[in-house]
Amino acid sequence: PGVKTVSSNVPAISLRGLTKEFGETTAVDGIDLEIRQGEFFSMLGPSGSGKTTVLRLIAGFESPTRGTVELEGTDVTARAPFDRDVNTVFQDYALFPHMSLIDNVAYGLRVRGVPKRERRERAAAALDRVQLGSFLGRRPSQLSGGQRQRVALARALVVEPRVLLLDEPLGALDLKLRQQMQVELKELQRSLGITFIFVTHDQEEALTMSDRIGVFNAGRLVQVGSAKEIYDRPNGEFVANFVGTSNIFPAAVGSSLYGRPEAFSVRPERLRLAHPGDAGRHGTTAIRGTVSALVYLGHATQVRVSISDGTTVVVLVHPTALAEEDVTPGREVAVEWRTSDVVWLPPTG
Ligand code: ATP
Repeated sequence: PGVKTVSSNVPAISLRGLTKEFGETTAVDGIDLEIRQGEFFSMLGPSGSGKTTVLRLIAGFESPTRGTVELEGTDVTARAPFDRDVNTVFQDYALFPHMSLIDNVAYGLRVRGVPKRERRERAAAALDRVQLGSFLGRRPSQLSGGQRQRVALARALVVEPRVLLLDEPLGALDLKLRQQMQVELKELQRSLGITFIFVTHDQEEALTMSDRIGVFNAGRLVQVGSAKEIYDRPNGEFVANFVGTSNIFPAAVGSSLYGRPEAFSVRPERLRLAHPGDAGRHGTTAIRGTVSALVYLGHATQVRVSISDGTTVVVLVHPTALAEEDVTPGREVAVEWRTSDVVWLPPTG
């Protein structure tokens, strides 16, 4: 049941000029976006940047002030939520506490008039898929946070939506469980081939899981690309700062070193420490500074170096390399990088 075929080059979702105003606040400001079928797409951005509102506009819980939402080529802007082939997993899971797991999961099928026997079979299969097949009779209160998260997923997936919307679904979990669920979610998405649209403010989570990421700022979509594109080629200071740790060298440094009056960024793992006398050889560029602090991260050490204009540059150094360099606060060092690791940041990015 539920096998639906749609030409695979029609986007799963198309947003055109999507805008939502709440009184004076423009929560979503003219978003144009196409999300492909079977894609794991993350919406990443700081709190208040409009991600949840975009998700609610896609689900139909809000209607746009301007613009349209298309699902697989059909304009659904005026349709009610239940009349759209999408389903949502909320951060608080919204499970029914008085119902067993199987009844929680079967609920959406009951509402849709699926006969009892079939809905029990499908609910059991959905719980099995999230590794809760032996817990059918339990109540949500008898589960851990991660297990509750899985029930919420099973409940959303049992109706076989074309698109699953997930609003910070891992936000309530501790780091370890969160990382485990990230892997499981990604696996599940790949095996089902459903389009996932995942809202998060956690850049590491977005980088780990997504086929593509849309970065939001103040209601606008600032950049769309794969994790690698977003990380290696941020299109401006906002993305460079928000995704990963960036070193933003001011435009004055760009002018003095390269003759380009633009700010630029080099990622901490692309920088190297050198003795001031040895720096700048073999096609590298270097800048002098003083070590201000060391931060031990376990797998590596962050060395913070302050350069002449007061800017702090963060260099990621492996423990073995650090021992040889004998780096301590107060020491004069050079920070060097290859020209190919420079990302220029146009001010209008
Ligand atoms: P978070 O990560 O904190 O959930 P977000 O990126 O999802 O943030 P939204 O929840 O979409 O951001 O909110 C975008 C803006 O719209 C915020 O300024 C918010 O205060 C405002 N907003 C959202 N919903 C409403 C509403 N129902 N009424 C008035 N303002 C709203």
